[in-house]
Amino acid sequence: MARTAPNIIITGTPGVGKTSHCEQLAERTGLKHISINTIVKDKECHEGWDEEYQSWIVDEDKLLDAIEDEVKQGGCIIDWHACDLFPKSWIDLVVVLRVDTTTLYDRLTARKYPEVKLQENIDSEIMQVLLDEARESYDEEIVVELQSATAEEMDSNLDRIEGWLKQWKENNAS
Ligand code: ADP
Ligand code: MN
Repeated sequence: MARTAPNIIITGTPGVGKTSHCEQLAERTGLKHISINTIVKDKECHEGWDEEYQSWIVDEDKLLDAIEDEVKQGGCIIDWHACDLFPKSWIDLVVVLRVDTTTLYDRLTARKYPEVKLQENIDSEIMQVLLDEARESYDEEIVVELQSATAEEMDSNLDRIEGWLKQWKENNAS
């Protein structure tokens, strides 16, 4: 089934700027911001609360069921710190946001992350876990790595994604 608008994943370690990018991109383009955090919570796509990590234990099958109809229609921006669970056929572009360790440390500290989660996320960013996950799960041509340390970088990222979207629409015009 052909989509009339593409689906984009914005992924990366917590704190890199996913939600900020998604919100602004949704505002600029009219695409729908799909906050997986919110869906997991509101539709109870989880197996309970992890006290140590202060986060939900996600039930991926339930989550996919909850978003399938909407995502299959196209025009969604998926906001989540994982990407390998979404079927390849759903996705047109995967943006992996990156940031330096100092900046990430400051952002997560400001959010009062528990120590264990803070360290794990910083290690994960250093080891580029999300970038590798994206490259392993999707075709190389649709995975883009973008820096997100400054407001200028965010602006240029949004311009770039908007440009890509315009191109996608031209290529897929019927
Ligand atoms: P995520 O959704 O990936 O956890 P957020 O979008 O919530 O990240 O951003 C975390 C914090 O970092 C927020 O305070 C946000 O304003 C700030 N931030 C995110 N991206 C940038 C950027 N490119 N430049 C400056 N600040 C940013
Ligand atoms: Mn977020």
